[in-house]
Amino acid sequence: MRKKIIAGNWKMNTVKEEAESLLKSISAQTATSNLSENKIVVVATPFPFIPFCVDTFSGFSHIYSAAQNCSEHEQGAYTGEVSAKMLASLNVQYVILGHSERRQYYNESDALILQKIKQAQSQQLIPIFCCGESLEIREKQQHFDFIKTQLEQCIFQLSEDEIKNLVIAYEPIWAIGTGKTATPEQAQEIHAFIRNELTKKYNETLAQEISILYGGSVNAKNAQELFACDDIDGGLVGGASLKADEFINIINAMS
Ligand code: PEP
Repeated sequence: MRKKIIAGNWKMNTVKEEAESLLKSISAQTATSNLSENKIVVVATPFPFIPFCVDTFSGFSHIYSAAQNCSEHEQGAYTGEVSAKMLASLNVQYVILGHSERRQYYNESDALILQKIKQAQSQQLIPIFCCGESLEIREKQQHFDFIKTQLEQCIFQLSEDEIKNLVIAYEPIWAIGTGKTATPEQAQEIHAFIRNELTKKYNETLAQEISILYGGSVNAKNAQELFACDDIDGGLVGGASLKADEFINIINAMS
């Protein structure tokens, strides 16, 4: 049975006091959120707040710390970088890789993201691999081909054993931080497409085991409709994960 996951991505927001208060509030409120082995919460804070996040969550069940990025290198002279090994040594469990903001502002290619995924997995971190098209590509009706290429050039290079330990997030760029959400039909269509591509490349059993999250202006109002779709296994939530009450309502929208 594949996991249902609500993952918060704080991006480059909060300072220490805000981060601590938000993490305490989220963890305390999840105690009433019916979480289990198969319904989990993940929170990707900025790097400096990760140790506090791990400590805070250690007293709670089914809520995990994530990073928003990691280096493609194991260690060495790479000033300013953070390795998967460092994250693992802090007991971080997940890492977001290939977010469209990293692809756009830091020129991350599918080949580079693949190296990062391999680094993360070598340290037993679970990558949350992001893919998704721009508005221009959708308007030209090229979104299926575009996503297929992102999959082929990146995660489809992994073996069956490797890809099993990975989460996919479909995040249409036109819906990220814009307040414009994909309709449940639009999101489900792509999620089903990705799962079908997984079946073709690997097999049906594996495709049914991989969680595919939707990201792009998820909020407490639209979450339930999106999460009710067959192939949507949760959400990757940006802006709305910075408000504890809203984030908890999104978590509670997941059955
Ligand atoms: C994101 O950052 O991955 C995201 C989906 O942001 P938002 O929810 O703010 O659109």
